[in-house]
Amino acid sequence: MPDHRTPEQYKTEQRDKAGPGDPLLVPVKTGKGVEFPGVCPACGAHADRALRVERVFPGRVVHGYRIPFCAKCLGRHRELLPARDPLLFFRRLLKGDGTSIGGLFICAVAAYFTKEAVRTLSPVLAVFSLLPWAVGGSLLFSVWRKNHYLAVEPATQVTAAVEFSGDVSREFEPAWEVFQFRDAGYATRFRAMNALRLWEPGGEEARDAKRSRDRKSRRNSYLMYCLLAVALVFALWEEYLQPIYQAVRGWLDR
Ligand SMILES: [Zn+2]
Repeated sequence: MPDHRTPEQYKTEQRDKAGPGDPLLVPVKTGKGVEFPGVCPACGAHADRALRVERVFPGRVVHGYRIPFCAKCLGRHRELLPARDPLLFFRRLLKGDGTSIGGLFICAVAAYFTKEAVRTLSPVLAVFSLLPWAVGGSLLFSVWRKNHYLAVEPATQVTAAVEFSGDVSREFEPAWEVFQFRDAGYATRFRAMNALRLWEPGGEEARDAKRSRDRKSRRNSYLMYCLLAVALVFALWEEYLQPIYQAVRGWLDR
């Protein structure tokens, strides 16, 4: 289902969710890494495997974690996944702006030069054909990377046991995100393991960041008032101030 929220709308919603009270929600500073308990978040059994779980956030941002699960749940996850689109490779390579068309065109030119190089056994032409290969290839690769979101597996009943919000920090705050778990025991373990990097929405660090934001917005409004004042003086100058100035000068020179 396409997500029409803007990244900012989404972040605001997630931040509002992060308030204290819900034991299943754990806000964590993510810049210093995040650790997951060694038990399966879906069933609580010993986790002997791990799976990289990725999600797509508004703005087509992909973000994920390698999370330990048990083998049984991972098997179930694979059963629940919809069949993989056989054309995914091509969709991922071609979807988007004209970049991929340009890349394909340049690769076709490169292929022509390579073919000619082989036909004429010309090493100069072979070397010459490397340049368009490199340019065309890097264009296609950039599209491929940008379309990573197309390849992200949907959440299943298994992987939905762990949800994360992606970075929802505001200006001057360290990167932090909200983790949401299905199981309260798992949430407690996760909270304990990441005790040193828990983010408190009403904590000292959050208040410092808010003060910095307020200072910045005050500075910006002072700047705006100054500009307005300058504009006002200029506007008044012609109309009123200059005649007064002239009159005063005339009086002084008398
Ligand atoms: Zn399990």
